[in-house]
Amino acid sequence: MAGESILVVEDNDTNLRLFIYLLSAKGYQVRGASDAQQALELMRNFHPRLILMDLQLPGTDGYELTRRLKADPGTRDILIIALTAYAMRGDEEKALAAGCDGYITKPIDTRALPVRIAEYLASGTQGPPDAGS
Ligand code: MN
Repeated sequence: MAGESILVVEDNDTNLRLFIYLLSAKGYQVRGASDAQQALELMRNFHPRLILMDLQLPGTDGYELTRRLKADPGTRDILIIALTAYAMRGDEEKALAAGCDGYITKPIDTRALPVRIAEYLASGTQGPPDAGS
């Protein structure tokens, strides 16, 4: 659904700008962070529906940030889609093991990215099984 909120966590500034541009063009409310600390600070006042998460970040990496968010009842409902590097075999399994809900492989296909994001948002609309309990 257009208007849904997305947080992009990516330390490569060119990629970050590209992802924000591509997703904003589809009508999403997009915010960006270049590391885990910035992401956590932003999320004090911003609860995105989905996070596009680069795994390789300086300091706290995307795996650790995902584990923290999925361990917190206040943020575990957020869909986390990992950005995995094509050359890094095993990234996908590690991403899912850390709690990511899915992954998109870099380098990204600029036309496919919004489609994949829309699919993940549509598939995750019911929230976690324990929601509301
Ligand atoms: Mn990176």
